[in-house]
Amino acid sequence: PAVIVAIDGPSGTGKSSTSKAVAAQLGLSYLDTGAQYRAITWWMVTNGIDVTDPSAIADAAGKPDIVSGTDPSAPTITVDGTDVAGPIRTQEVTSKVSAVSAVPEVRARITELQRSIASAAGTGIVVEGRDIGTTVLPDADLKIFLTASPEARAARRSGELKGADVQATREALIKRDAADSSRKTSPLAKADDAVEVDTSELTLQQVIECVVTLVEE
Ligand code: C5P
Repeated sequence: PAVIVAIDGPSGTGKSSTSKAVAAQLGLSYLDTGAQYRAITWWMVTNGIDVTDPSAIADAAGKPDIVSGTDPSAPTITVDGTDVAGPIRTQEVTSKVSAVSAVPEVRARITELQRSIASAAGTGIVVEGRDIGTTVLPDADLKIFLTASPEARAARRSGELKGADVQATREALIKRDAADSSRKTSPLAKADDAVEVDTSELTLQQVIECVVTLVEE
């Protein structure tokens, strides 16, 4: 039977790097659900939807066609056939994604997409996000919740952004996590049956080995 692995946690915990490597190592598919929320946010911004207006977002939520490629060695994301892998990582999208993903109609649409991708994955899939273990795939075979100290997370994100201001990055991260954790529909949360892994003092390789071992158990 297909193996379903849910990896949740805030940003800067090494979620994406870990999830991709675990999927590649175990021959599983990989789904970055944050990229889907970023893609729908990119579409809203590009089409002039006011992201401070939840009813405008709700009305438009069904319009974009979001397609995720699930090969862990080359994941892709398109909106209406356009490759948006680059544009979804801009500061503008990053600063607006929490507001868009808090709208219940957006979550319903993206959750449905995620479940259909997971059920179509042949050998199995590693799905990374914020609400995978609690809401999207509550029957996952393994649930991991990654954490890290605010310092470790901000340093990792700043490294990814190539020298961006650590303090500003840290403040933006804390703000986004607070918004993701406090929204009413499917907030960022650890499932009761998730294994918590604090990555602050671990190398990426150690985190990957830890998760692979848990899958194989
Ligand atoms: O993982 P990443 O930082 O790219 O996620 C971007 C944003 O997408 C998060 O800050 C959150 O607002 C939203 N998200 C979500 N549920 C998920 C994955 C991401 O609400 N499962």
